[in-house]
Parts: sequence; C-alpha cells; structure tokens
Amino acid sequence: MRLRGVRKSRNVEDRRKMSGGKGAGLGGVGLLVVLAVGYFAGIDVTPLLEGQGGIGQQSTASRELTEAEQREGEFAAGVLSTTEQVWGQVFPQIADKAYQPPVMVLYSGVTSSPCGNASGATGPFYCPGDEKFYLDTAFFTTMRQKLGAGGDFAAAYVIAHEVAHHVQNELGILPKVNQRRQAVGQTEANALTVRLELQADCLSGVWARAVSSTLERGDLQEALNAAKQIGDDTLQRNAGRVPQPHTFTHGTSEQRQRWFSVGYKSGDANSCDTFSAARL
Ligand SMILES: [Zn+2]
Repeated sequence: MRLRGVRKSRNVEDRRKMSGGKGAGLGGVGLLVVLAVGYFAGIDVTPLLEGQGGIGQQSTASRELTEAEQREGEFAAGVLSTTEQVWGQVFPQIADKAYQPPVMVLYSGVTSSPCGNASGATGPFYCPGDEKFYLDTAFFTTMRQKLGAGGDFAAAYVIAHEVAHHVQNELGILPKVNQRRQAVGQTEANALTVRLELQADCLSGVWARAVSSTLERGDLQEALNAAKQIGDDTLQRNAGRVPQPHTFTHGTSEQRQRWFSVGYKSGDANSCDTFSAARL
C-alpha cells in the first residue's frame, strides 16, 4: 500500500511507551477479562492465539519505541487516515449523518479499556464503550510469523476491519446485535456474531476498493490471504482441533474472503447486508 503523501491520522492514542504500566496484577483475572471483551463481540482471533506473551513481560518504566514500532505506528496512523477519508465520504450516504471517526489505541503488552483489560494475546478489538479500537502493533508480527498472514495490506485490512466495527456501532447495528446476543442461547449468539464479523469484512472490502489507487501488486492477495488465515475453521484446524461450526464467531475462511470480495467488487456498503443474506 502506498501511503507516501497520505497524512497521518490524529486520532491515535499511543500508549506503547507506557509499557502497560496499569497492567500490574493482571495475572489470574486475564482470562476473565478476555471473556468480558469477547462478550461485546468485535474481538478478533483471540481464543486460539495462546501464549503470545504480553503479560509478564511488562515493566512500568517508560521506554523508547524501536524503529520497527515507530514504522508500524506511522503505518497504522496512515491507514487510519485513509479510513477517515473513505468513511467521511461514504457514511453520510448510508446514515444521513456525519462520520465521527474512532480513536486507535496503540499499546504494547497490556492496557485497559472499558471493555476490560487487553493483553497481547487478546488480539485487536473494538470497544463500543469508548469508541476506540485497541491494537498491539506486535500483532502484525504474530500475523506474519504465526498466522501466515504477512504483508502490509494484510495489516491494513485488520485496521480497516476494526474501523468497520466502529462504523457498525455508529450505524446502530453493533448495539442491536449485542442486545440480541444477550437474549438468545450461545449457538444463536455465535451465529449473530458471525454475521456481524462478515459484515465488517465486507465493509473492509468497500474501504479497500475506495483506496484501490494506493494498492501495489500483491496487496489485494495479502488481504484475501489474511481473511483466509483468520477464518474460524482454519484457526481451529491449525490449533489441532476439528472445526466446530456452532462455535464459530467470525465465519469460515471461505466466507471471510467472499464477503471481503463482495465489498471490494461492489464498492457499495449497501451490498454488505449479511443480516438479510439467505446464505452466508
Ligand atoms: Zn471483528
């Protein structure tokens, strides 16, 4: 993705120098906290990424960012800026109001949010409580090294996906789905989450189409590959399990790729109505 000349978003809260100072004493409540975040939906690829560290590697002292971290932060701020341009234009057409962009919180290791504490193992997630999304930039390395989802546009897709959850929140879809999830059984709640997640993938495709002039050779493939590698069936299989469809919360690899493509090919957010789709 060519981001030269793209301004950096100012909606960035960079907590990485704090090294997760608030995280002291996380320990045993970590799992509980992760569940609390998951409860809100919009948490991505968490449960199968165990042992990513984070907790226990923390110091409370302030530190300097590495060059790689600085680059990752600048890249993320550039991508975020493109989402602000795209949704700033598209959102008023579908919602009849102006787009209020989310804040991107960059953290390293652990941090806290109104949706619970986050650790590196949490994976990126959006918290409707403060309308921020949380990203440990080390996740990009995890994607490359552990998930087989390398490439700058794979990372950009992850950011666009989290922003898409914010778009869903602004549209009133996310609160409605979260409310409904509480009223139904686990299997049905999971099925609703899948529709929410596939819609976020489709909206990411709409964004990708809108920034297609910045794409370099192989970029689109990087996003599609990432969508494939973080499909529930693939994650479960790679964790040595037999895929259990009733536990899926994000959709299969095939579904995630296809809904991203639906958004990309149409360039139209109205094509992303996964909730009315007869077939996902
Ligand atoms: Zn998601």
